[in-house]
Amino acid sequence: MKKYILPLLIFAITKLSAQTITGFSPNNTASQIQAEQKFDAQLNAQHIGETIKLLSSRPHNLGSSGSKAVAEEILRRYQDYGFDAHIETFTVLFPTPKTRVLEMIAPTTYKALLKEPALKEDATSGQEDQLPTYNAFSADGNVTGELVFVNYGLPDDYDKLAALGIDVKGKIVIAKYGRSWRGIKPKVAQEHGAAGCIIYTDPMGAGYYQGDVYPKGAFANEYTVQRGSVMDMPVYPGDPLTPNVGADSSAQRIASHNDAPNLLKIPVLPISYHDAKPLLESLGGPVVPDGWQGALPITYHVGDSKTKVHLKLEFNWNMVPCYDVIAMVKGAQFPDEWVMRGNHHDAWVNGANDPISGQSAMLEEAKAIGELLKTGWKPKRTIVYCSWDGEEPALLGSTEFAEEHAKELQQKTVIYINSDGNGRGFLGAGGSHALQPLMDEISKTVIDPQTNVSVFERWKAEKATTASSAKAKKEALDIKALELDALGSGSDYSPYLQHLGLPSLDVGFGGESDGGEYHSIYDSYDDYRRFKDPTFEYGVALAKVAGRAVLRMADADVLPFDFTNLYETANKYATELINTTNDLREATTIENLLLTQNKYKLAADPTKTYIQPQPKAEVPFLDFSPLQNALIQLKQSTDSLSDELKKNVSSNENINLSLAHAEQQLLFPDGLPRRSWYKHSLYAPGFYTGYGVKTLPGIREAIEQRNWKEAQDEIQLTAQAVQRFSGYLKEIGK
Ligand SMILES: [Zn+2]
Repeated sequence: MKKYILPLLIFAITKLSAQTITGFSPNNTASQIQAEQKFDAQLNAQHIGETIKLLSSRPHNLGSSGSKAVAEEILRRYQDYGFDAHIETFTVLFPTPKTRVLEMIAPTTYKALLKEPALKEDATSGQEDQLPTYNAFSADGNVTGELVFVNYGLPDDYDKLAALGIDVKGKIVIAKYGRSWRGIKPKVAQEHGAAGCIIYTDPMGAGYYQGDVYPKGAFANEYTVQRGSVMDMPVYPGDPLTPNVGADSSAQRIASHNDAPNLLKIPVLPISYHDAKPLLESLGGPVVPDGWQGALPITYHVGDSKTKVHLKLEFNWNMVPCYDVIAMVKGAQFPDEWVMRGNHHDAWVNGANDPISGQSAMLEEAKAIGELLKTGWKPKRTIVYCSWDGEEPALLGSTEFAEEHAKELQQKTVIYINSDGNGRGFLGAGGSHALQPLMDEISKTVIDPQTNVSVFERWKAEKATTASSAKAKKEALDIKALELDALGSGSDYSPYLQHLGLPSLDVGFGGESDGGEYHSIYDSYDDYRRFKDPTFEYGVALAKVAGRAVLRMADADVLPFDFTNLYETANKYATELINTTNDLREATTIENLLLTQNKYKLAADPTKTYIQPQPKAEVPFLDFSPLQNALIQLKQSTDSLSDELKKNVSSNENINLSLAHAEQQLLFPDGLPRRSWYKHSLYAPGFYTGYGVKTLPGIREAIEQRNWKEAQDEIQLTAQAVQRFSGYLKEIGK
């Protein structure tokens, strides 16, 4: 690789009395700190509160006039702040309900209300243009059947039902919210042959078991319903009719939603615990297995043939406009290097918390950048602020933008920084592990509004005090640097990280603002200012954290990627997988022994039904050596690259873009098995968890599914991705 020696920027050798910032030369550090101080001075908690109030004043779901008005208000603000802004519109599928009927027809009758009442304590709760309670991308359906309680509706729950001799074929299942992304529940129900699925909020998960209910407290009252998407997002998110391409006017669309591979075939409806109680109360059959009992004042049963329900759902399968607001400040030196920052603007109803609290903090950052521009400051790189539409139905706005501009984004983007709902509490940060040092430094310079220590110190205190064992507590006390979580899915970073391989972050505060308003009409300004962030100071804290990440990535002399950190994390995942496989082998052997020796039968209560499962195939020894060897090479490459970056920066045409492109080497050219849209070899949302991340997903999921041939193939493919990545880093480090 040919290179030109630029003036040496000496970092490691120079001792600075003042603060150092990774990636900045001593000369530029001072001006950077000054710019950040000016930026901070512009952030105003009260103004964030006013923005939250305004943008959540009407329902503004995808496709509504409210959403258009919110997008136009956001556009106007970006323009006021001096950004070059426009709205990019996609046309996407978005079903809304036409008919919703849920009734019990035996042994007694009950007709579900399917309605959250207005409250005098909540000014926006009685507005007219609210979306009814429903799950978007449920199938149309008119089904009648026996009702079965399936706990959280996950694969293990069905194994327990099978042991009780109960199947769900042709029946309607009722599952609790929680433990997984909601879309997994109807997917697993469908896989087991259910005809329909009801999902309800149990008071144990989000209601009175957690605390006082709304409006007295923050938790779900008996009528609160969690709306939400049930698209099979782990297959692909975005517009279901245009996988892999932007849903513009010329896009080739799947002709009918009935043919979209990520849409369900059965009807699904979310309900409140007011509506769930009569159904659950009427269920007969065995008392539920250990751990299944919820917090309703009844003993939960699994169900027998006596309880029957009728579920009828019809939807308007409309194509609607999706308004992404895109705002740029052109980079003075490197206009073709983009620092992207995003948060969605659409909500299920008013969405004061989700997403407007994050959106308002982000707009405050844009305002502060606007003020910096007025002083003559210009970013070196281009800054792109994105206010996404259609996140709630399954990341539509962000995914369509990512697919539409895939090539350009993979060429130009140096980072994508995401946020979503925000509240009082502790910093949460996840993302590409090469960005850990960047976030660590930032977390030590932003002060927690309630305690006056850094948000890092507060994060560490929480981690240490809540760790599960004495050993874990001790380890947490020794932590020197902020740790990034691995990202699964559930917000707009997913297409940038997992489809395009762009270095990505997701940041926000929370942990002291829990409640039960999620996706209900009660996610309102009134709820927010009482229970989430009453002084809006955490909006400022978020703007400081994300804003610093934007400014540092925009102005760094050398982009602060630390691949050593990425190596260490990947190596940890690999070790974890090897251990998991060994544990699984041991567990399988002993379980099979217990089964063949009839021990479970002997231990079971003879008066109750117990159907013994079949023994499982023994776990073979997998050969992890290709991956282990690739990781050894990776360690060498990352060590020599980081030495090189520390010593001096000798750059070819553009070392920064090379660093930013590195993570793309970790993409699988053909994606993950059965879901090729997801291409990252290190991170993916779980096929059976949804939001929950699977690290080294190709290998891990094959092991979890006991597909040994596939596990071995995926070890090979992952090793190849790591080799590519390591070879690429070696070239940059030369
Ligand atoms: Zn959100």
